[in-house]
Amino acid sequence: MRVQDVQNKLMDEPARLAALDRCQILDTAPEAAFDKITSLVQTVMNVPISIVSLVAKDRQWLKSMTGPVAANMPRTISFCTHTIERREPMVIADAAEDKRFASNPVVLGPPFIRSYLGIPLSSPDGYNLGALCALDTKPRSFDATQIQIMTSFAALVMDELELRLIAKSDFLTGALTRRAFGAALNGAWAAFQDGGRESALIIFDIDHFKRINDERGHAAGDLVLSSVAQFVRETMPPEAELGRLGGEEFAVLLPDMDRQTARSLTEALRSGLAAYAIPGMSARPVTASFGVATTVPSLASVADWIARADLLMYEAKQSGRNRCRFDMSVD
Ligand code: GH3
Ligand code: MG
Ligand code: MG
Repeated sequence: MRVQDVQNKLMDEPARLAALDRCQILDTAPEAAFDKITSLVQTVMNVPISIVSLVAKDRQWLKSMTGPVAANMPRTISFCTHTIERREPMVIADAAEDKRFASNPVVLGPPFIRSYLGIPLSSPDGYNLGALCALDTKPRSFDATQIQIMTSFAALVMDELELRLIAKSDFLTGALTRRAFGAALNGAWAAFQDGGRESALIIFDIDHFKRINDERGHAAGDLVLSSVAQFVRETMPPEAELGRLGGEEFAVLLPDMDRQTARSLTEALRSGLAAYAIPGMSARPVTASFGVATTVPSLASVADWIARADLLMYEAKQSGRNRCRFDMSVD
């Protein structure tokens, strides 16, 4: 990367926010991997407070923290806002003596921050997403070895962010893994139980997929799988979540979706897929069979919801393939 490009990335706030968005980390639950790092920082640096902070549009949000700090604070008073404007670590030996921070409410009031070491958390494509920080309530300096250690810890934080994403998505199709899709379903189910709107679950399985593998080879089969996933992403509304349940079986969660809309979207997906010419797969239609179940009070659990959609998909297969089966229950 040219020096100018590197500098430009520090100033391109919309691209930085898009990179942060791709991490899918904001407002997620605490995770042990990050808590271990802040705990290590606290011990190794001998500081009362350590944080992994992500700088969002208007706020700083903490993925992990040790010590008395707020999970959210306005960006205007966050130290890390300054750290992400640079490539190098930011050291503040005494905030009370630094005119940028002397009147900051977290310096004048709880938790009475006086010193700070922040390492930018830089994404592989060069955007500063936040900072790994060591904070103290008394003035202090940080030597070169300590800064080096913190820089290594910051690299670990970035590795963890990347691993989270890899674990969540299927390598071939980019769809959510079965486990991550299950978490999305649980969220929609909990919202429905809390009195929210109904959500729809589509389960579909590609028809006669084995033939594609047998006749064209495994690589062609792989191309079909990734093309189908891409087609679903382009066809479905942006809030839809695509999961790969296994082999050539996929699922789509349509959150906050009534059954009529889910029904017409699924029908459009089925006919659109049957008419779609997959690049490189000359004029060979790929079809799938679909089962659609919406959250209804008679369902006992998420497992029940999945079983209903799965059964309907199986019925679609049995009745001739390339068709949709919908939940006709009236409750
Ligand atoms: P049906 O219409 O009844 O669904 O028939 P089908 O041929 O689609 O289903 P079947 O379960 O008989 O075959 C699915 C095949 O999918 C078998 C398996 O080898 C293949 N498969 C599973 N995962 C992958 C993959 O990642 N890549 C490729 N190329 N093939 C896969
Ligand atoms: Mg199949
Ligand atoms: Mg199958």
